Amino acid sequence: MSADRRAEVAAGLDAVRRRIAAACADSGRDPDEVTLVVVTKFFPASDVRILADLGVTDVGENRHQEAEAKAAECRDLGLTWHFIGGLQSNKAAAVASYADVVESVDRSKLLAGLARGAHQRSHPVDCLIQVSLDPPDAGAGRNGAPVEDLPDLAADLASRDLLRLRGLMAVAPLDADPGEAFDRLAAIRRELLVDHPAATWLSAGMSGDLEAAITRGATHVRIGRAVLGERPRIK
Ligand SMILES: *Cc1c(COP(=O)(O)O)cnc(C)c1O
Repeated sequence: MSADRRAEVAAGLDAVRRRIAAACADSGRDPDEVTLVVVTKFFPASDVRILADLGVTDVGENRHQEAEAKAAECRDLGLTWHFIGGLQSNKAAAVASYADVVESVDRSKLLAGLARGAHQRSHPVDCLIQVSLDPPDAGAGRNGAPVEDLPDLAADLASRDLLRLRGLMAVAPLDADPGEAFDRLAAIRRELLVDHPAATWLSAGMSGDLEAAITRGATHVRIGRAVLGERPRIK
């Protein structure tokens, strides 16, 4: 483990923890209500080890092959692995075999595979529905399920053995004001909680907008660059 890299990651982590604490203080929330998920995509397993050593408990990955390999390499660390990327239905079972939390459930077609993966592992998988905050005309380019799909998708997910509907995940649209986007998300969440009162998790907020998300109720923030630096290569 390089001492330089460890110092760099420790500094990034410290800065992000301070930002989370400040946003919680601003909104009268307890920082223990907010879980930091460090997004390790494109970074090596050695960085995951440094993070675990620095007290990080949750990490996020967005591509199946990379996630699977890293989770296997770091199994001894006892981390909680979040899958946060676009999911193909033919990969859903495989993802559920190592991911503890699947944050990017956006259609019913994924559920059979996810449930199969959870059964093979004999372990429940926590699921978040990724809801789109994109404009209605975003079409297939949208990130997540259209809001109008939520009631059926949530009911379907909640009915599956070993899949636990925990709440929602969203990404603020690139060109939008994150505060406005997360206000809408908070309203969508209130609606979901009427039928699914246990679905209390809200994963929102990235390096650039974690404050806006925390003041609107985020329970999980997904932070890559602000902890680990710019990603080594482009997607
Ligand atoms: C990469 C990624 C993040 C982290 O983004 P940063 O800007 O590096 O903090 C968060 N959420 C999702 C879905 C991502 O793909």
